[in-house]
Amino acid sequence: MTAILLLPLLSLAGGVAMWCFWLWRRERSRHLSDRDEWRRSFSRLSEEKEALSNQERGRQQTLFDGMVEGVLLVGPDGRIEFLNLSLKRLLGLVTDVRGRSVEAALGRPELGEMLKRVDADGQMIGLELDLTSSVGRFLQVNASVFTAPDGGRRGTLFVFHDLTRMKQFENSRRDFVANVSHELRTPLTLIKGFVQTLLEGGAETKEDEARYLQTVAKHTDRLTFLIEDLLSIARLEGGEAALNRHPIRLQEIAARVAADLAPRALERRVTIVNEMSGTLEGWADGDRLEQVWLNLIENAIKYGRDGGRITLGGRVLPENRVECWVRDDGPGVPPESRDRVFERFYRVDRARSRERGGTGLGLSIVKHIINAHGGQVWVQSELGHGSAFFFTLPQSAEAGG
Ligand code: ADP
Repeated sequence: MTAILLLPLLSLAGGVAMWCFWLWRRERSRHLSDRDEWRRSFSRLSEEKEALSNQERGRQQTLFDGMVEGVLLVGPDGRIEFLNLSLKRLLGLVTDVRGRSVEAALGRPELGEMLKRVDADGQMIGLELDLTSSVGRFLQVNASVFTAPDGGRRGTLFVFHDLTRMKQFENSRRDFVANVSHELRTPLTLIKGFVQTLLEGGAETKEDEARYLQTVAKHTDRLTFLIEDLLSIARLEGGEAALNRHPIRLQEIAARVAADLAPRALERRVTIVNEMSGTLEGWADGDRLEQVWLNLIENAIKYGRDGGRITLGGRVLPENRVECWVRDDGPGVPPESRDRVFERFYRVDRARSRERGGTGLGLSIVKHIINAHGGQVWVQSELGHGSAFFFTLPQSAEAGG
């Protein structure tokens, strides 16, 4: 009897237990799958966040790389966190300097000092950095505190501006003023000296008096030439020299200038031979071109050989251009001076240039005029065997624009 009752009870208990087990399994697997799902979502979200911040970093890098200024971000621990392309270019950096200290990475103790001062004062600091000996640049650096959007301190931001061109311009202007003052002072001192001597009756004979007056006249001329050349340079550099271009017969202009200079050539027994073809034409401003021929032929007379020969030539070049030259058989231009003779006030032999009435501006004026026509000017020379000054011009309006 008991056995009869026990059997259904046991099977009922077994059924309940199985049902409970099944329920527990179902709950557990649901819980597990929820947890997996949550894990998957979490990792998907993290990946998306990572991708977004990578994207944002990439965007920022592109933005900063597009800037002309160099940008450097140093973290609160004093290590470089970020720098843009311009800064690498400005400082000539080829290795990755992120993670290093500013001083160690850039080799400039001043930048480490700036960092300390910005840290201490929390203010913006500016500094001029002379890197002319290492990378040939002059930079202005500003450093300031860099804050996060929540206002917390994120580090120090350095911005580098390239002042190289401005400094070069400043230096060349200073040199120019110094040169002009020097050039003006020398003849003025001489004029004053001779006038003083004359006023004090220092000339003992009529011949002495005439000689002193001639010297005064010569230096007055020098001052006039210098001022005329300075005005030409100022007009050319100021862009005031609007060119009045026409088709020009080059041989005619050269012949006219050579005729004007014939007395000076005669003084030095120099022969000028015009070998240009009468048909050679250029697209140029006649007055300006006359000045080019004048300066080049005058130089060939001044610096050429006594009793020497000057040849004027020209030819047509491809692409609708013409080339002209003035060749002499004088001592020539030394190799190291060949590019420099076109600079303002550069002379190979200062005393000789002065003695021949040179201002040191003639070739610089030639270069300005030819460049304004879209041409080029250069010198070829063999020491002891003369030099040839060449210039190119557009042959017609089509080439010259
Ligand atoms: P300058 O007024 O002194 O002649 P330029 O600018 O015309 O100034 O010339 C610059 C320098 O170039 C001259 O001082 C001279 O030393 C050199 N030079 C110019 N032309 C010749 C030449 N034909 N032969 C040798 N040297 C020359």
